Amino acid sequence: MNNSLRILLLSIIPAIAMAIGATTVADIPNVHVADRTRYVSNPDGVLSDATVASLDRSLGEIWSSTSAEPVVVAVASMPSDTDIDTYATDIFDAWGIGKKDKDNGVLIVIARDDRKAVIRTGRGSEGALPDIVCGRILRNEMFPRFKEGDYDGGVTAGVNAISRVLTDPAYADELRSSQANDSRAEAVADGLFNIYLTVAAIIAIVMTLLSLYTVVSTRRRDSVARYAALHSLVIPSLIVTCLTLGMALPALLISYLAMKRVRSRRKCPNCHHAMTKIDEVNDNAYLTPAQDAEERLKSVDYDVWVCPNCRETDILPYVNRLTDYRVCERCGARASSLVMDRVVLRPTERRKGLGKKVYRCKNCGNTHTVAYVIPMLAAAAPFIIGGSGGHGGGGFSGGSFGGGITGGGGASGGW
Ligand SMILES: [Zn+2]
Ligand SMILES: [Zn+2]
Repeated sequence: MNNSLRILLLSIIPAIAMAIGATTVADIPNVHVADRTRYVSNPDGVLSDATVASLDRSLGEIWSSTSAEPVVVAVASMPSDTDIDTYATDIFDAWGIGKKDKDNGVLIVIARDDRKAVIRTGRGSEGALPDIVCGRILRNEMFPRFKEGDYDGGVTAGVNAISRVLTDPAYADELRSSQANDSRAEAVADGLFNIYLTVAAIIAIVMTLLSLYTVVSTRRRDSVARYAALHSLVIPSLIVTCLTLGMALPALLISYLAMKRVRSRRKCPNCHHAMTKIDEVNDNAYLTPAQDAEERLKSVDYDVWVCPNCRETDILPYVNRLTDYRVCERCGARASSLVMDRVVLRPTERRKGLGKKVYRCKNCGNTHTVAYVIPMLAAAAPFIIGGSGGHGGGGFSGGSFGGGITGGGGASGGW
């Protein structure tokens, strides 16, 4: 199937389903889990954006002041094989509305085109909102406005009536849960953070052991090779230290101190007398112009050691792999760097391309060209339509319901 056809179908199918079908329980977006500041699921746009925002605020206040969990779901229509009571009970239990210890959830569902609405209570909120009170709120506050086609006003009046009851100090103890709001989501977040810390600690320990192993295993190697081995650990240790919130700092410290030590003392290979290091300013007298150029470019750092006993002189090159200088073919200095990268032949989906890299030596001025093959282009990746619709102004972190269930309390009816 070609891509544009696929995109067309992917965007049309949900629209058709929305137009001809009803909203099943699984189709109702659990907005609070995506964003803990939201309590109103309005997938079919039955309520206006302004009403949803205002309901989110008043429901949020009830959540924070009472720990009860009132939630609103407004759909255009239910599937034909269900009734409003079953529909609401299914949503209530699927989402686990209400704190588990108190079952203090309250769910208002309206199905506009079916002209049905329900207020479903958890076992713990039944005391504050007995069936008779729920029935009265539906009949007196909500249905008259729904009859006028005023769904925003009806739901708002219903939520206000429920809010007056739930925030009544008389019911405070009955509703108050020992469970914090969104505690299940926080438990998941805490769990993930603990997993991260554990993995980070393991990686930091492995990195530290690797540094120790390198220090021990290179003991008998000459100082240039030993330094190179330790130096190759610096960048990985730095990255691991950042990613593990500093836990790999010992690894970094071990390789750094070992590198310093490698270059701080030397025994004469001739007479085993301790040698003297010539300082950076005076060592230039011992270096060739090419070596001097490398030191200026910082591509190689030379240490010059002299034996006070037998006058043995050793020049040790410490290559700095953090610079990208290459060894020049003509003068041998590590002073050649990339000055131009040119695409000679563009690659296509059927043919490889060709490029040329031009290097120039900063010591002798020699230029050197290296040809390279550019891989064929991969066929364009299929475009995937993202499913996450952002809601402006909301919190960034997801929430959770408390895991409550309903005993089927509440009332329902039509208008
Ligand atoms: Zn000596
Ligand atoms: Zn050169």
